[in-house]
Amino acid sequence: MDVSFWQKDLETIERQPLKKLQLKLLRETVDFALKTPFYKSRLHKVAITSSDDIKSLEDLKKIPFTTKDDLREGYPYGHLAVDLGDVVRIHTSSGTTGIPTVIYHTKSDLDNWTDLVARSIVATGATKKDIFQNMMSYGLFTGGLGLHYGAERVGLTIIPAGPGNTKRQMQLMKDFRTTLIHITPSYLLHIGSKLEEFGFSLKDFVLKKAYCGAEPYSGNTRKKLEKSFGIDVYNSYGLSEMNGPGVSFECVNKCGMHTWEDAYIMEVIDPKTGKNLGEEKEGELVFTTLRRRATPILRYRTRDLAFIYKGTCRCKRTHRRISRITGRSDDMLIVNGVNVFPSQIEEVIMKIPEVGNNYQVYLEKEGALDKLTVKVEIYSKMFTGDLLQLDSLKEKIINELRAAIILTPAVELHEPGVLPVSEGKAKRVADNRQKI
Ligand code: AMP
Ligand code: ZN
Repeated sequence: MDVSFWQKDLETIERQPLKKLQLKLLRETVDFALKTPFYKSRLHKVAITSSDDIKSLEDLKKIPFTTKDDLREGYPYGHLAVDLGDVVRIHTSSGTTGIPTVIYHTKSDLDNWTDLVARSIVATGATKKDIFQNMMSYGLFTGGLGLHYGAERVGLTIIPAGPGNTKRQMQLMKDFRTTLIHITPSYLLHIGSKLEEFGFSLKDFVLKKAYCGAEPYSGNTRKKLEKSFGIDVYNSYGLSEMNGPGVSFECVNKCGMHTWEDAYIMEVIDPKTGKNLGEEKEGELVFTTLRRRATPILRYRTRDLAFIYKGTCRCKRTHRRISRITGRSDDMLIVNGVNVFPSQIEEVIMKIPEVGNNYQVYLEKEGALDKLTVKVEIYSKMFTGDLLQLDSLKEKIINELRAAIILTPAVELHEPGVLPVSEGKAKRVADNRQKI
């Protein structure tokens, strides 16, 4: 297969020089990290006071893990390692109790990120001839802008559609002869199910490829999407703490996602013991940024579960590949691509005086999309027969939840004693979505 590259030297670098490069970049990263009060205190505790204390890649193990909570504690500017004047953009990711994690980028940080995305795009065989409709959200979420700038750098023709407005998406795809889309897998399934209703058929499109990510999906869903649309679907993995998309991406061979190891040190650990598992064993992905200046992050526990494939890829890229994300080692839910922690929902509803003691977060499929319903028990005194009062309470709960989790859930109000109670540890989440 004819393969082209964006940064061939870096993408095909031999493992030994790659490790040497990683060590050099890790040392630089540690020096930058030490400029933040958080890492200064963390690293001093383990006797790392400068990059001189990092003599080999093995020394990485001396560095404690960084968690989402650690990052949240630095909100809003606590993790900044450069002058604020050098920061040109900020992204955030949703947090466990509404406080997001913040990632600051210098111009060179964005430049490096853009190259990683450009590499990923070229690795899938896309070229400047492609018409690229980006259906990921533009804004603080990294999916939209991340792919946008990478695609622009490669020279693709971009339609920055953002998500939603399904009929218009189809019209754009038809009129502009879109060949490539970036989309959550559930939204692509949804589009497939709505074609006829909106008066379109596959013959209207010349779509060739889709980049799907931001939420877990199975190999069978990929096959289903490929078959029903007659396209190639490439898995794309990333998280805001590591820039966003462009951390791990499939190449034309679609046999696992290459992680760009000159930009990230990747580890897979046992989530319980923190022990390194090496290759082929499923565990939690841990990443260290190597090229980022404004927000260096060391050994970040992603909570995403996957394993590293052994062996090299036919495409000649030497960067190791990871499997699909098979789950999470925490309770984070991904609802139509948006991250939600049950604790965020609890925070909101327990603040509302009319809400009683029990609630349930209920997830199901509505067509191809996820539907989130929050069922809450309210005090029986609220059931006076005044329906207007109940409606306005429901509206209030919906609005407060929307503000906290960015999604609009359905809300059901129940009398006390209606929702299931479990003895022992409460089971607040009922996830009835069949795995896609
Ligand atoms: P965010 O920081 O909001 O971009 O969310 C990142 C999270 O989305 C990751 O930690 C994963 O849990 C999930 N995610 C992103 N891409 C994928 C993918 N291709 N497969 C499964 N989960 C993904
Ligand atoms: Zn490859």
